[in-house]
Amino acid sequence: AKTEGKNTWQRYQDEMHEAMLRRLEMRSALNEAVAGGQMRLRFQPIIDLPTGDVAGLEALVRWQHPVRGLLGPNEFIELSEENGSVVAIGGWVLREALTTFAHWRTTEAGRPMRYVSVNVSARQFRTPGFVDEVREVLSETGADPRWLLLEVTESLVLHDADQVWADLRELRAMGVRIAIDDFGTGYSSLSYLSNMPVDVLKIDKSFIDDILHNPQQMALVETIVSLARTLELAVVAEGIELDGHRTALAEMGCSYGQGYLFSKPVTSDEFLEYLRTQSSA
Ligand code: C2E
Ligand code: CA
Ligand code: CA
Ligand code: CA
Repeated sequence: AKTEGKNTWQRYQDEMHEAMLRRLEMRSALNEAVAGGQMRLRFQPIIDLPTGDVAGLEALVRWQHPVRGLLGPNEFIELSEENGSVVAIGGWVLREALTTFAHWRTTEAGRPMRYVSVNVSARQFRTPGFVDEVREVLSETGADPRWLLLEVTESLVLHDADQVWADLRELRAMGVRIAIDDFGTGYSSLSYLSNMPVDVLKIDKSFIDDILHNPQQMALVETIVSLARTLELAVVAEGIELDGHRTALAEMGCSYGQGYLFSKPVTSDEFLEYLRTQSSA
Protein backbone atom coordinates (compact mmCIF):
# COMPACT_ATOMS: atom_id res chain seq x y z
CA ALA A 1 0.00 0.00 0.00
CA LYS A 2 2.92 2.28 0.81
CA THR A 3 4.48 1.98 -2.63
CA GLU A 4 1.08 2.36 -4.20
CA GLY A 5 0.60 5.66 -2.32
CA LYS A 6 3.93 6.90 -3.52
CA ASN A 7 3.10 5.96 -7.06
CA THR A 8 -0.18 7.85 -6.84
CA TRP A 9 1.61 10.92 -5.53
CA GLN A 10 4.29 10.62 -8.18
CA ARG A 11 1.67 10.26 -10.87
CA TYR A 12 -0.15 13.31 -9.51
CA GLN A 13 3.05 15.36 -9.63
CA ASP A 14 3.77 14.22 -13.15
CA GLU A 15 0.28 15.19 -14.23
CA MET A 16 0.58 18.64 -12.63
CA HIS A 17 3.92 19.13 -14.33
CA GLU A 18 2.51 17.96 -17.65
CA ALA A 19 -0.50 20.30 -17.32
CA MET A 20 1.76 23.24 -16.56
CA LEU A 21 4.02 22.55 -19.52
CA ARG A 22 0.99 22.14 -21.72
CA ARG A 23 -0.36 25.56 -20.71
CA LEU A 24 3.01 27.21 -21.29
CA GLU A 25 3.37 25.56 -24.65
CA MET A 26 -0.21 26.47 -25.61
CA ARG A 27 0.28 30.09 -24.57
CA SER A 28 3.23 30.65 -26.83
CA ALA A 29 1.78 28.59 -29.67
CA LEU A 30 -1.42 30.67 -29.50
CA ASN A 31 0.51 33.81 -30.35
CA GLU A 32 1.57 32.25 -33.64
CA ALA A 33 -1.71 30.51 -34.42
CA VAL A 34 -3.49 33.25 -36.38
CA ALA A 35 -0.44 34.25 -38.43
CA GLY A 36 0.27 30.56 -38.97
CA GLY A 37 -3.18 30.02 -40.49
CA GLN A 38 -4.22 27.54 -37.80
CA MET A 39 -7.64 28.97 -36.97
CA ARG A 40 -10.77 27.37 -38.40
CA LEU A 41 -14.48 28.14 -38.29
CA ARG A 42 -17.43 25.86 -37.78
CA PHE A 43 -20.99 26.95 -38.48
CA GLN A 44 -24.15 26.08 -36.59
CA PRO A 45 -27.61 26.97 -37.94
CA ILE A 46 -30.05 29.11 -35.96
CA ILE A 47 -33.64 28.09 -36.65
CA ASP A 48 -36.78 30.20 -36.82
CA LEU A 49 -38.84 28.00 -34.48
CA PRO A 50 -42.35 28.82 -35.75
CA THR A 51 -41.47 28.16 -39.42
CA GLY A 52 -38.48 25.82 -39.16
CA ASP A 53 -36.49 27.99 -41.59
CA VAL A 54 -32.77 28.59 -41.19
CA ALA A 55 -32.70 32.19 -39.93
CA GLY A 56 -28.95 32.47 -39.63
CA LEU A 57 -25.91 30.83 -38.18
CA GLU A 58 -23.31 31.16 -35.46
CA ALA A 59 -19.62 31.06 -36.35
CA LEU A 60 -17.61 29.06 -33.79
CA VAL A 61 -13.83 29.04 -33.69
CA ARG A 62 -11.54 25.98 -33.65
CA TRP A 63 -7.76 25.75 -33.44
CA GLN A 64 -6.02 23.28 -35.73
CA HIS A 65 -3.06 22.71 -33.42
CA PRO A 66 -0.04 21.31 -35.32
CA VAL A 67 0.45 18.49 -32.79
CA ARG A 68 -2.71 18.20 -30.70
CA GLY A 69 -5.21 18.30 -33.55
CA LEU A 70 -8.46 20.23 -33.74
CA LEU A 71 -9.15 21.99 -30.44
CA GLY A 72 -12.45 23.49 -29.30
CA PRO A 73 -12.66 27.00 -27.83
CA ASN A 74 -13.03 25.66 -24.29
CA GLU A 75 -9.44 24.47 -24.60
CA PHE A 76 -7.90 27.80 -25.59
CA ILE A 77 -10.18 30.88 -25.42
CA GLU A 78 -9.53 31.48 -21.73
CA LEU A 79 -5.77 31.25 -22.27
CA SER A 80 -6.04 33.58 -25.25
CA GLU A 81 -7.92 36.09 -23.09
CA GLU A 82 -5.07 35.91 -20.59
CA ASN A 83 -2.25 36.45 -23.05
CA GLY A 84 -4.12 38.86 -25.31
CA SER A 85 -4.05 36.70 -28.44
CA VAL A 86 -7.87 36.68 -28.33
CA VAL A 87 -7.78 40.11 -29.98
CA ALA A 88 -6.08 38.71 -33.09
CA ILE A 89 -8.16 35.54 -33.00
CA GLY A 90 -11.41 37.48 -32.65
CA GLY A 91 -10.42 39.80 -35.48
CA TRP A 92 -9.73 36.80 -37.70
CA VAL A 93 -13.05 35.21 -36.76
CA LEU A 94 -14.97 38.40 -37.57
CA ARG A 95 -13.31 38.81 -40.99
CA GLU A 96 -13.60 35.14 -41.91
CA ALA A 97 -17.22 34.83 -40.76
CA LEU A 98 -18.34 37.94 -42.64
CA THR A 99 -16.42 37.01 -45.79
CA THR A 100 -18.03 33.57 -45.79
CA PHE A 101 -21.51 34.86 -44.98
CA ALA A 102 -21.36 37.66 -47.58
CA HIS A 103 -20.42 35.05 -50.16
CA TRP A 104 -23.29 32.72 -49.19
CA ARG A 105 -25.79 35.53 -48.82
CA THR A 106 -25.19 36.75 -52.36
CA THR A 107 -25.56 33.30 -53.90
CA GLU A 108 -28.65 31.13 -54.21
CA ALA A 109 -27.96 28.82 -51.26
CA GLY A 110 -27.61 31.45 -48.57
CA ARG A 111 -30.12 34.05 -49.66
CA PRO A 112 -32.90 33.19 -47.21
CA MET A 113 -30.58 33.62 -44.21
CA ARG A 114 -30.76 36.86 -42.32
CA TYR A 115 -27.60 37.00 -40.23
CA VAL A 116 -24.33 35.58 -38.99
CA SER A 117 -23.61 35.60 -35.28
CA VAL A 118 -20.03 36.21 -34.11
CA ASN A 119 -18.74 35.87 -30.54
CA VAL A 120 -16.77 38.78 -29.17
CA SER A 121 -14.73 38.36 -26.01
CA ALA A 122 -14.76 41.10 -23.40
CA ARG A 123 -11.07 41.83 -23.87
CA GLN A 124 -11.50 42.09 -27.64
CA PHE A 125 -14.50 44.40 -27.27
CA ARG A 126 -12.65 46.68 -24.87
CA THR A 127 -9.58 46.98 -27.12
CA PRO A 128 -9.54 50.54 -28.47
CA GLY A 129 -10.46 50.61 -32.13
CA PHE A 130 -12.83 47.64 -32.01
CA VAL A 131 -15.77 49.58 -33.45
CA ASP A 132 -13.55 50.91 -36.25
CA GLU A 133 -12.37 47.39 -36.98
CA VAL A 134 -15.98 46.21 -37.34
CA ARG A 135 -16.70 49.13 -39.69
CA GLU A 136 -13.61 48.28 -41.76
CA VAL A 137 -14.41 44.58 -42.03
CA LEU A 138 -17.99 45.37 -43.06
CA SER A 139 -16.84 47.65 -45.83
CA GLU A 140 -14.05 45.31 -47.00
CA THR A 141 -16.38 42.33 -47.23
CA GLY A 142 -19.28 44.34 -48.67
CA ALA A 143 -21.53 42.93 -45.95
CA ASP A 144 -24.69 44.76 -44.95
CA PRO A 145 -24.28 45.73 -41.25
CA ARG A 146 -27.70 44.19 -40.59
CA TRP A 147 -26.21 40.80 -41.49
CA LEU A 148 -24.00 40.93 -38.41
CA LEU A 149 -25.04 39.94 -34.90
CA LEU A 150 -22.32 40.36 -32.28
CA GLU A 151 -22.63 38.09 -29.23
CA VAL A 152 -21.25 39.66 -26.09
CA THR A 153 -21.32 38.47 -22.51
CA GLU A 154 -23.66 39.65 -19.83
CA SER A 155 -20.74 40.75 -17.64
CA LEU A 156 -19.31 42.98 -20.38
CA VAL A 157 -22.60 44.85 -20.58
CA LEU A 158 -22.86 45.11 -16.80
CA HIS A 159 -19.37 46.41 -16.05
CA ASP A 160 -17.51 49.33 -17.56
CA ALA A 161 -20.87 50.63 -18.55
CA ASP A 162 -20.04 54.04 -19.98
CA GLN A 163 -17.52 53.24 -22.70
CA VAL A 164 -19.00 49.84 -23.49
CA TRP A 165 -22.51 51.21 -23.79
CA ALA A 166 -21.29 54.07 -26.01
CA ASP A 167 -19.61 51.52 -28.29
CA LEU A 168 -22.70 49.30 -28.30
CA ARG A 169 -24.82 52.29 -29.29
CA GLU A 170 -22.39 53.22 -32.05
CA LEU A 171 -22.49 49.68 -33.45
CA ARG A 172 -26.28 49.63 -33.35
CA ALA A 173 -26.41 53.04 -35.06
CA MET A 174 -24.42 51.42 -37.90
CA GLY A 175 -27.10 48.72 -38.14
CA VAL A 176 -25.16 45.95 -36.38
CA ARG A 177 -27.24 44.02 -33.84
CA ILE A 178 -26.11 42.92 -30.38
CA ALA A 179 -26.94 39.72 -28.50
CA ILE A 180 -26.29 38.93 -24.87
CA ASP A 181 -24.81 35.44 -24.91
CA ASP A 182 -25.46 32.88 -22.18
CA PHE A 183 -28.15 35.11 -20.76
CA GLY A 184 -29.14 34.21 -17.22
CA THR A 185 -25.72 32.98 -16.12
CA GLY A 186 -24.68 36.50 -15.02
CA TYR A 187 -26.42 38.94 -12.79
CA SER A 188 -28.44 41.29 -14.93
CA SER A 189 -30.78 43.34 -12.82
CA LEU A 190 -34.18 44.31 -14.10
CA SER A 191 -33.36 48.01 -14.07
CA TYR A 192 -30.31 47.41 -16.25
CA LEU A 193 -32.21 45.18 -18.63
CA SER A 194 -34.76 47.78 -19.57
CA ASN A 195 -32.07 50.19 -20.77
CA MET A 196 -29.44 47.91 -22.26
CA PRO A 197 -28.44 48.78 -25.82
CA VAL A 198 -29.01 45.24 -27.12
CA ASP A 199 -31.38 43.43 -29.50
CA VAL A 200 -31.26 39.73 -28.68
CA LEU A 201 -31.06 37.48 -25.61
CA LYS A 202 -29.52 34.04 -25.98
CA ILE A 203 -30.66 31.65 -23.27
CA ASP A 204 -27.85 29.39 -22.11
CA LYS A 205 -28.06 25.66 -22.74
CA SER A 206 -27.91 24.97 -19.00
CA PHE A 207 -31.43 26.45 -18.67
CA ILE A 208 -32.82 24.35 -21.52
CA ASP A 209 -31.33 20.93 -20.63
CA ASP A 210 -33.84 20.07 -17.94
CA ILE A 211 -37.06 21.85 -18.97
CA LEU A 212 -38.92 18.64 -19.86
CA HIS A 213 -38.35 17.07 -16.45
CA ASN A 214 -38.27 20.08 -14.19
CA PRO A 215 -41.37 22.32 -14.13
CA GLN A 216 -39.51 25.04 -12.26
CA GLN A 217 -36.87 25.15 -14.97
CA MET A 218 -39.62 25.32 -17.60
CA ALA A 219 -41.27 28.20 -15.72
CA LEU A 220 -37.94 30.01 -15.47
CA VAL A 221 -37.37 29.80 -19.23
CA GLU A 222 -40.95 30.96 -19.83
CA THR A 223 -40.25 33.95 -17.60
CA ILE A 224 -37.14 34.86 -19.57
CA VAL A 225 -39.03 34.54 -22.86
CA SER A 226 -41.87 36.77 -21.69
CA LEU A 227 -39.42 39.24 -20.16
CA ALA A 228 -37.67 39.46 -23.52
CA ARG A 229 -40.99 40.07 -25.24
CA THR A 230 -41.79 42.90 -22.82
CA LEU A 231 -38.42 44.45 -23.57
CA GLU A 232 -38.97 43.90 -27.31
CA LEU A 233 -35.89 41.69 -27.60
CA ALA A 234 -35.65 38.58 -29.76
CA VAL A 235 -34.80 35.32 -27.96
CA VAL A 236 -32.59 32.46 -29.08
CA ALA A 237 -32.63 29.26 -27.03
CA GLU A 238 -29.41 27.29 -27.33
CA GLY A 239 -28.75 23.62 -26.63
CA ILE A 240 -31.96 22.28 -28.21
CA GLU A 241 -31.26 18.56 -28.41
CA LEU A 242 -34.73 17.03 -28.28
CA ASP A 243 -37.87 17.51 -30.29
CA GLY A 244 -39.65 18.07 -26.97
CA HIS A 245 -37.36 21.06 -26.31
CA ARG A 246 -38.22 22.53 -29.69
CA THR A 247 -41.97 22.07 -29.22
CA ALA A 248 -42.02 23.47 -25.69
CA LEU A 249 -39.95 26.51 -26.66
CA ALA A 250 -42.03 27.22 -29.76
CA GLU A 251 -45.19 26.97 -27.66
CA MET A 252 -43.97 29.50 -25.13
CA GLY A 253 -43.22 31.96 -27.94
CA CYS A 254 -39.45 31.64 -28.19
CA SER A 255 -38.60 32.84 -31.71
CA TYR A 256 -35.26 31.15 -32.41
CA GLY A 257 -33.41 28.00 -31.49
CA GLN A 258 -30.02 26.41 -31.94
CA GLY A 259 -28.81 22.94 -31.05
CA TYR A 260 -27.80 19.44 -32.02
CA LEU A 261 -31.43 18.58 -32.87
CA PHE A 262 -30.98 20.75 -35.96
CA SER A 263 -27.22 20.43 -36.50
CA LYS A 264 -23.91 20.38 -34.70
CA PRO A 265 -21.40 23.06 -35.73
CA VAL A 266 -20.10 21.93 -39.15
CA THR A 267 -17.63 22.94 -41.87
CA SER A 268 -18.66 25.38 -44.59
CA ASP A 269 -19.18 22.56 -47.12
CA GLU A 270 -21.33 20.63 -44.67
CA PHE A 271 -23.28 23.76 -43.85
CA LEU A 272 -24.08 24.39 -47.52
CA GLU A 273 -25.17 20.76 -47.82
CA TYR A 274 -27.41 21.24 -44.78
CA LEU A 275 -28.98 24.34 -46.37
CA ARG A 276 -29.68 22.34 -49.53
CA THR A 277 -31.45 19.56 -47.65
CA GLN A 278 -33.47 22.14 -45.68
CA SER A 279 -34.69 24.03 -48.72
CA SER A 280 -35.72 20.84 -50.52
CA ALA A 281 -37.49 19.47 -47.44
P1 C2E B 1 -21.49 29.55 -26.91
O1 C2E B 1 -21.33 30.89 -27.53
O2 C2E B 1 -22.53 29.41 -25.87
O3 C2E B 1 -21.71 28.56 -28.12
C1 C2E B 1 -22.53 27.46 -28.09
C2 C2E B 1 -21.74 26.22 -27.74
O4 C2E B 1 -22.65 25.19 -27.44
C3 C2E B 1 -20.88 25.71 -28.89
O5 C2E B 1 -19.75 25.06 -28.33
C4 C2E B 1 -21.80 24.69 -29.54
O6 C2E B 1 -21.11 23.70 -30.24
C5 C2E B 1 -22.48 24.12 -28.32
N1 C2E B 1 -23.80 23.59 -28.64
C6 C2E B 1 -24.72 24.09 -29.47
N2 C2E B 1 -25.83 23.35 -29.48
C7 C2E B 1 -25.61 22.34 -28.61
C8 C2E B 1 -26.40 21.21 -28.19
O7 C2E B 1 -27.54 20.99 -28.61
N3 C2E B 1 -25.84 20.37 -27.29
C9 C2E B 1 -24.59 20.57 -26.79
N4 C2E B 1 -24.12 19.69 -25.91
N5 C2E B 1 -23.82 21.61 -27.17
C10 C2E B 1 -24.32 22.48 -28.07
P2 C2E B 1 -18.27 25.39 -28.81
O8 C2E B 1 -18.24 25.58 -30.30
O9 C2E B 1 -17.39 24.38 -28.19
O10 C2E B 1 -18.00 26.80 -28.17
C11 C2E B 1 -17.88 26.96 -26.79
C12 C2E B 1 -17.80 28.40 -26.41
O11 C2E B 1 -16.59 29.01 -26.87
C13 C2E B 1 -18.91 29.25 -27.01
O12 C2E B 1 -20.09 29.07 -26.27
C14 C2E B 1 -18.32 30.62 -26.92
O13 C2E B 1 -18.51 31.18 -25.64
C15 C2E B 1 -16.83 30.35 -27.11
N6 C2E B 1 -16.46 30.71 -28.50
C16 C2E B 1 -16.69 30.01 -29.63
N7 C2E B 1 -16.22 30.67 -30.71
C17 C2E B 1 -15.69 31.83 -30.22
C18 C2E B 1 -15.04 32.97 -30.85
O14 C2E B 1 -14.89 33.06 -32.07
N8 C2E B 1 -14.62 33.96 -30.00
C19 C2E B 1 -14.80 33.90 -28.67
N9 C2E B 1 -14.38 34.94 -27.91
N10 C2E B 1 -15.41 32.87 -28.06
C20 C2E B 1 -15.85 31.84 -28.83
CA1 CA C 1 -22.23 32.40 -28.60
CA1 CA D 1 -24.31 31.00 -26.00
CA1 CA E 1 -23.59 28.61 -23.79
